[in-house]
Amino acid sequence: MNDVTNAADARRPGTVWFVGAGPGDPDLITVKGRALIERAGAVLFAGSLVSEAATRWAPPGCEIADSKDMTHEQIVAWLIDQASRHETVVRLQTGDPALYGTLTEAVQPLDAAGIPVAVVPGVSSALASAAAAVESLTLPEVTQSVILTRVEGRTPMPEGESLEELARHHCTLCIFLSITLLHKVTAALESAGWSPDAPILVVHKASWPGEEKIIRGTLADIRARVREAKVVSQSMIIASPALGARHWPELKKSKLYDAAFTHRFRRASAPSASTPTEETP
Ligand code: SAH
Repeated sequence: MNDVTNAADARRPGTVWFVGAGPGDPDLITVKGRALIERAGAVLFAGSLVSEAATRWAPPGCEIADSKDMTHEQIVAWLIDQASRHETVVRLQTGDPALYGTLTEAVQPLDAAGIPVAVVPGVSSALASAAAAVESLTLPEVTQSVILTRVEGRTPMPEGESLEELARHHCTLCIFLSITLLHKVTAALESAGWSPDAPILVVHKASWPGEEKIIRGTLADIRARVREAKVVSQSMIIASPALGARHWPELKKSKLYDAAFTHRFRRASAPSASTPTEETP
């Protein structure tokens, strides 16, 4: 259904949906995101980041534009204009719109213009990268926290959020927007006390059909490996004490699957040596 409205409806603006397009593979958009594209009167996508294939579901007559050569003001003006003519306007964003995007900057002027907005989450590249490498970002008794961050580039890091400070937690770090600053990443981890043989994973274009590259190394050699692979853009850097656990001979099993652990859905079948205190999911 195309929802081009007639002039009489023009006073009631349509909704601008910020839709997570996922990390690259068009099949990784959500069912809800795809359904919105299928009934959109206008779709704006980011050419350099979101696969054009994501617009393949747009209906005939849908206005489709690439925001890659637009300024922020032009993007906002485009969305406001389209919302005055269509019931459903989609702004497609790479991964999840809540991470390192321009969601808030775009929503403020739409609020001011009285245009309803809504967000549909997407598969972030951090999770697609873990999936590509068959890695778990959390592992019982190894790490139970994940920090999504970046190193300081042109955008300064707020106080207390330097990578060195965050890395002192020795939990999983998913580092966005930093592949050209890999030297800063490795220096920060070294200063935070990570061992030279700590495993580091770099995933380039996670989930992009035919273009994904998985580079594994250590804190000591990851820079050389990334250089050899000639990877200079669109990459996720993951540092985690849980990397490679698939091949560990002994794995601490999650208490949730431990026969001695009782939770909401299952009574314990064996007596436990220690009383588990974990909360149920
Ligand atoms: N909102 C996005 C992040 C946008 S910032 C998300 O949730 O994934 C852009 C950064 O995301 C890139 O510099 C890179 O670090 C990462 N990125 C985006 N797509 C990627 C992909 N397919 N594979 C690996 N990293 C990716």
